[in-house]
Amino acid sequence: MTDLTPPGRRGPRRRSARTPAQRQRRADPAREAAYSLLRAVATQDAYANLELPRILTAAGLRGRDAAFATELAYGTLRMQGLYDAVAAQAASRPTSAIDPAVLDVLRLGIHQLLGMRVPDHAGVSATVALARQHVGQGAAGFVNAVLRRVVERDRSAWIDTVTTEEPDETARLAVEHSHPAWIVRALRASLLANTGTDEELVALLAAQNVAGSLSLAARPGLVEDEELREAGAHPSPTARTAWTLPSGDPGALAAVRDGRVAVQDAGSQLLTLALADAPIEGPDARWLDLCAGPGGKAGLLAALAHGRGAHLRANEISPHRAELVRQTLRSVVEAGARVEVTVEDGRDVGSHEPGRYDRVLVDAPCTGLGALRRRPEARWRRSPRDIPALAPLQRALLDSALEATRSGGLVAYATCSPHLAETHLVVRDVLKGRAGQDAELVDVRPHLRDRDGRPVAGVGRPDELWAQLWPHRHGTDGMFVALLRRR
Ligand code: SAM
Repeated sequence: MTDLTPPGRRGPRRRSARTPAQRQRRADPAREAAYSLLRAVATQDAYANLELPRILTAAGLRGRDAAFATELAYGTLRMQGLYDAVAAQAASRPTSAIDPAVLDVLRLGIHQLLGMRVPDHAGVSATVALARQHVGQGAAGFVNAVLRRVVERDRSAWIDTVTTEEPDETARLAVEHSHPAWIVRALRASLLANTGTDEELVALLAAQNVAGSLSLAARPGLVEDEELREAGAHPSPTARTAWTLPSGDPGALAAVRDGRVAVQDAGSQLLTLALADAPIEGPDARWLDLCAGPGGKAGLLAALAHGRGAHLRANEISPHRAELVRQTLRSVVEAGARVEVTVEDGRDVGSHEPGRYDRVLVDAPCTGLGALRRRPEARWRRSPRDIPALAPLQRALLDSALEATRSGGLVAYATCSPHLAETHLVVRDVLKGRAGQDAELVDVRPHLRDRDGRPVAGVGRPDELWAQLWPHRHGTDGMFVALLRRR
């Protein structure tokens, strides 16, 4: 199967005397799988990370073929903005004038030619075969003609070509790094506010286009290091519970299958550990995860609570997602943890149970702009309108969490988005709304500790008490966390 060497490392182009149409009659199963995924994302609003495993299994793809299909599909979805600009130029027409199914074939072809080390002849002929099979002979001729124009230039020449006409730097970065311009602006604003400069913007955009290494959370007390090492995992320096799996399927690990270890971003682990580790005075027996579905952080919290003799309530508004929480908590419960999963609107918990909890996590519903590297199609689904739609809910959930917390207890407000309107503004507004009377920010940074117990560096400006993690700095999702103490 084809080489998976990343972009920018291509050797000289290899050509063949035969035309692509002569070379390959039928598409191969890996490209078929990638095409099916793109179509499911476009026509059924499918989530790529949920749909692809089903497609790979149905096609019987494993090993290198599955890895090729995954890179082809995910890379194409992520880089769609750049590839559409290339397709429009090479086809001499706007992408809106190209049939969506044909456009998906073209995107797959362009990713092979400009984003993977697939030789030109193989990339063109396999893509033309895919077009012939799925969109017809006429469209296959069009795909052939467009891809033959694409191979005339390499990736950097194409980037120069399609960005020269863009009106400003944001628009150029948006095309080159394949992000909607509004997300580029939001990330720039967040970098400025959190680091004092936007110099790292290009590094951040680039990091969001690379799938992070697979991160595992070893639930404390449930698994020995030796078992993870033997399964091929390496301890991650990022957090004391974090491990990475350099290759292979996490589902092949017995500890993952039975829920003693979870697939979880190291940044999510860091902030969960920070909430559990920050000292409080008085009782420490009742913990609450206000928005727990599907249960990643609740699983870690439950194991930590068990080690302290505390009880965890994992709450979720959606019954279906609450069921997922129950499933992920099963192993911790079997180990003796005291956990209750409830279905309630988190906005009501504060008034129903005022002052009941010692530690509360609000992992608020958000745009997920910090997790774009793991959700390849998400950037194209989100819209600036999502921000005002989520804002009142995020504020109400944080307010409710503070109500549900006893005097001296702690609330962690977290998002997997660095957008300022979902992070700094929510915390500021909620504190202002309470007139600074009964809640205050606590410095979360000393509690974000790496595997060796050292505070994680580069999480914010010296004068701010909250923390923002970044894919390009920390190798984690772009998680935000603020810690508040109830007075
Ligand atoms: N902490 C979770 C984890 O680590 O797996 C992720 C939480 S996710 C960011 C936010 C969750 O909040 C979603 O499952 C969503 O269904 C839930 N949610 C949305 N509105 C809610 C509400 N009013 N009350 C409680 N949960 C809510």
